[in-house]
Amino acid sequence: MLDLLVKNARLDYHQGTVDIGIVADKIKLLEANIDTPAHTVIDAEGQFVCTGFYETHIHLDKACILDRCSMQQGTKGEASSQTSEAKKHFTEEDVFARGCRVVEMAIKKGTMGLRSFVETDPRAGMRSFKALKRVREKYAFAIDIELCAFAQEGLTDEMETYNLLRQALQQGADLVGGCPYTDADPNRHIELIFDLAEEFDVNVDFHLDFDLDPSHTSIPKIAEQTRQRNYQGRVSIGHVNKLSAMPPAQRLKLVKLLLEADIALIVLPATDLLMMGQDHTHLIPRGVVNANELSALGITTTISSNNILNAFTPYGDASLVRMANLYANIAQLSTDDEMRAAYEMISLNAAKLLSLQARLQVGGPATFVLLEVIDAVDAIRTIAQPLLGYKNGRPTFTNQKAVIHPQS
Ligand SMILES: [Zn+2]
Repeated sequence: MLDLLVKNARLDYHQGTVDIGIVADKIKLLEANIDTPAHTVIDAEGQFVCTGFYETHIHLDKACILDRCSMQQGTKGEASSQTSEAKKHFTEEDVFARGCRVVEMAIKKGTMGLRSFVETDPRAGMRSFKALKRVREKYAFAIDIELCAFAQEGLTDEMETYNLLRQALQQGADLVGGCPYTDADPNRHIELIFDLAEEFDVNVDFHLDFDLDPSHTSIPKIAEQTRQRNYQGRVSIGHVNKLSAMPPAQRLKLVKLLLEADIALIVLPATDLLMMGQDHTHLIPRGVVNANELSALGITTTISSNNILNAFTPYGDASLVRMANLYANIAQLSTDDEMRAAYEMISLNAAKLLSLQARLQVGGPATFVLLEVIDAVDAIRTIAQPLLGYKNGRPTFTNQKAVIHPQS
């Protein structure tokens, strides 16, 4: 007897449709036409079943704060100052409520794993961290959340931040993150973040090269530190807009450094389309590097949301398929292979970055999402609607299919 049987599912790399038989929290059978009885039967009706999506870069504590910002120009400078000011007034309950709101949005969009940065400095204190630990615990039934203790606003000129990061790591932060471009001494900032990572044996994630000036970049320093400290495969960098502003030969040199150090790269199209090239009056650059090009060269690449409804990104529904579709459009993708690579940037690659498994297999966890589409490629092309999700054999969300009512 099975607990759950999903009939007529279309899976990646499978011909035709298959059935998925589940006992407790594991996949017991994965084959066509299973006739074992089950307590619950779901008919997937030939639609696509996958392991869901993985958000590798989001700020839960800075989400949904448009109501307390008064944007006049919509510039990067204004976004920084408004957010920094708003942060001083965050309370634990306030961060908890907004974090819950965004995590619920993400769950309903089929997100099964997520890495959130957590503002950890004298303005935020430990309030964001305490609140997001509660969010992580509350939604563990549906989503695996990683918390990255994060120095958003510099470190070398405000060493109190260093002690707060250490406190967060002592109290359960999963990794540590830095932002060298906001620091007066970016190289020292990078070293200090690596010092903490080594001390606590955790991964590292940097916000990096958040502008379009190709004349200097922090990539060589990050690559050097990664190799020196044997941190290959444990470092990721987000934004990295400068790579999009470089001619191919210059970009390739830096890509080689990333490859040698096995550093993953995260593109954040929603924020970067808004924040890059604001000084241009025409032919405004997109400012997002083509992650397909880097992926083809062997770099682990992912696509993420970064922010939801704040001054850096006054949009958002926490949908990763929508983000991949946006990226596909601006990276000028068109072929099935290109679209599949974009799909992997929110599924397989992103799960790998979060050290999670994203494979449907016998003996594996009964964790999956049913999408209103027939395959991965069309999921990206059409921004497919996730219909339902299960984690470890338990239902986590349901979205109703839209229905047309024709007039007779
Ligand atoms: Zn960010």
